[in-house]
Amino acid sequence: MEPDAVEDYRFVGARRRLIETIRAQGIEDLEILRLFDRVPRHLFVPEGVAHRAYEDSAVPIGFGQTASQPSLQAYYLQLLAPGPDDRILEIGTGSGYLTALLALLGDRVYSVERIRELSVRARRVLDQMGYKNVALMVGDGSIGWRRYAPFQVITVAAASPSIPTALVDQLDEGGRMLIPVGRREVQDLLLVRRIDGRIEEESVRDGCTFVPLLGRYGWDDGTDSGP
Ligand code: SAM
Repeated sequence: MEPDAVEDYRFVGARRRLIETIRAQGIEDLEILRLFDRVPRHLFVPEGVAHRAYEDSAVPIGFGQTASQPSLQAYYLQLLAPGPDDRILEIGTGSGYLTALLALLGDRVYSVERIRELSVRARRVLDQMGYKNVALMVGDGSIGWRRYAPFQVITVAAASPSIPTALVDQLDEGGRMLIPVGRREVQDLLLVRRIDGRIEEESVRDGCTFVPLLGRYGWDDGTDSGP
């Protein structure tokens, strides 16, 4: 079934302006721009911040977390270029908004979130909208989701001190991964590719600030499971 774009006419103008903002930032791919028109972001963020859903900014979603900036997500989609046969691993489900965008491009999305309440909320919204090709798991995404590996696309929405080896291991030949790596305050966004069995890394944007990836291959989350 085609995911149901529940229309709310209060947001039509704001959504169109957001798409123009994203286009002005160099995202010209019409397939990507249309996704931002198709998926109603205001349904993915808490009601209290729904009026901010079409600002090109990170929006608080509770538990100290944010839904990422839409133009940054468009940039992710442009660089990762998920195809219709691709199995996608997403680390940091958050609001589930990027999950929905990815699900419209790829074959199936496997998304891991460490905060149960966020995962449950995302599941509810995705179910209400009719997404059938999304599997969500609550847990430490820094170790990936080995059961469904290898993945052609891996997207990480939280910053890590280094590239988690577990995620590299789960990247398919020809696969692409985007992950912010650096210090807690500021990171480089790295595009990691497996080409002819070799791993290539390229910094595609510097000066980024993401929430921390907490867990075994990320930052210490206060448990004993750190590297
Ligand atoms: N794409 C999401 C959105 O638009 O809503 C972005 C969510 S936010 C920037 C990053 C998320 O990563 C947070 O929800 C946080 O709880 C989650 N996170 C941090 N460390 C994690 C880990 N080890 N495993 C899974 N999720 C993690």
